[in-house]
Amino acid sequence: MRYFDINLNLSKEDILLRRSARQFAQGVMRPVSRELDGLTAEQVIAADSPLWDFLKQAYELDLHTVLLPEYYGGQGLSPLQVHLVFEELGWASFGLSVQLAVVCFPFYLICMSGNEEMIETFVKPFCACRDGSIRGCWAITEPDHGSDVIAVGEEYFSSKAMKGNVQARLEGDQYVINGQKSAWVSGGSIATHALLHVQIDPSKGFAGNGICMVPLNLKGVSKGKPLEKVGQRDLNQGELYFDNVVIPKAWMMCDPDFYVPFLDMILASANLCMASWSTGLARAAFDESLSYAKQRVQGGRPLVQHYAMKQRIFDLFARTESCRAISRAAINLNLNLSPPHVEYSLWAKTQCTEMAFKNTHEAIQIWGGNGLTKEYVLEKLFRDARATLIEDGSNETLARHGGHILAETYPRQVESF
Ligand SMILES: Cc1cc2nc3c(=O)[nH]c(=O)nc-3n(C[C@H](O)[C@H](O)[C@H](O)COP(=O)(O)OP(=O)(O)OC[C@H]3O[C@@H](n4cnc5c(N)ncnc54)[C@H](O)[C@@H]3O)c2cc1C
Repeated sequence: MRYFDINLNLSKEDILLRRSARQFAQGVMRPVSRELDGLTAEQVIAADSPLWDFLKQAYELDLHTVLLPEYYGGQGLSPLQVHLVFEELGWASFGLSVQLAVVCFPFYLICMSGNEEMIETFVKPFCACRDGSIRGCWAITEPDHGSDVIAVGEEYFSSKAMKGNVQARLEGDQYVINGQKSAWVSGGSIATHALLHVQIDPSKGFAGNGICMVPLNLKGVSKGKPLEKVGQRDLNQGELYFDNVVIPKAWMMCDPDFYVPFLDMILASANLCMASWSTGLARAAFDESLSYAKQRVQGGRPLVQHYAMKQRIFDLFARTESCRAISRAAINLNLNLSPPHVEYSLWAKTQCTEMAFKNTHEAIQIWGGNGLTKEYVLEKLFRDARATLIEDGSNETLARHGGHILAETYPRQVESF
């Protein structure tokens, strides 16, 4: 369905970019995501899985470098353009949108760190990759630590009782890494590189952490079984194990001194992506509801001709537009901003995922029994949306972090007044 854009100032380039993303989203991504959704977690990543051709096609269209600057070989899109593309991808499949972003995430963070040597070694080959063979992932969550790892404002964050499951020990000019990341690492089973959070100084709890780049073909790296789950089944997830894995000291992109601000930068970016894809997901639920309500006849006329249904359709539209307004405002503010106003990314992620979830929930209600069958896409949208409330930080944890920022830094001095 064509959807109006309240922004009447989109340039020709913006419109062409969105059109190309929409064609890929509708013609390739949505059908593949439904196929993957019906497979087991092992089959999703098997050699004959349609996932591989999907990734190849996406890389050929440069959809793996949406977040990267042109200077290093990325697409060099404006924040609004990133949003336009991500909304289309989120419409097609939340899980595959995440997959396409995590492949890029370590390389994106290297760009933000400004480490020229790592940009040459890692980022440029990634940007030039066209066959999908270089794939990153972001490994922060641990078997014993979920919300803990991002709870910067809590006292326990910097307590030595917080023992991370992955430790890095400095030996001369190398780090030696040992431990395990949880099965929730998106794209973990198929990744070639990891942006890895490690504990360097346990006496400071998680404030003693660092973040490094680890090529996953190094000696001592192994992977667990891919995870079976309810939503976003098209998104692979799996554990990573590190047994005396050695990396050069220079690949530790951030050490304890800079860990908390770097973590905030990561949270700010990841949550902007989540909010943008949620807009697409909310719109998908709206699309399905409106077209069904126009076609399904009850009481002698299409559902949409009944007064109460008009109001429900409007509510879906209102939530979609709210998602879009909030996520665009936040991405315009925060993408590539250093340091970011993290509370606005948290605002966008928590609000947009809740509204997208509500839209998918309400869409099923509008479809009645048909909304629950595997024959149609709605039940998948609903399952995918449910996962977003936990993904990249549970919404309650993100709200606590946002509240901590407000308590510490507000009221802000507003210079432009
Ligand atoms: C689809 C999906 C994709 C993901 N992708 C990645 C990825 O790419 N990389 C990665 O590393 N991780 C990833 N994750 C993991 C995700 O970030 C964690 O699941 C999330 O941070 C929550 O951690 P947890 O599941 O361990 O829940 P827990 O931290 O155990 O929380 C359980 C519940 O307790 C609440 N809670 C926790 N602490 C407190 C507290 N102090 N006070 C009050 N309530 C509290 C939480 O809000 C939640 O409701 C992904 C998760 C999902 C679902």
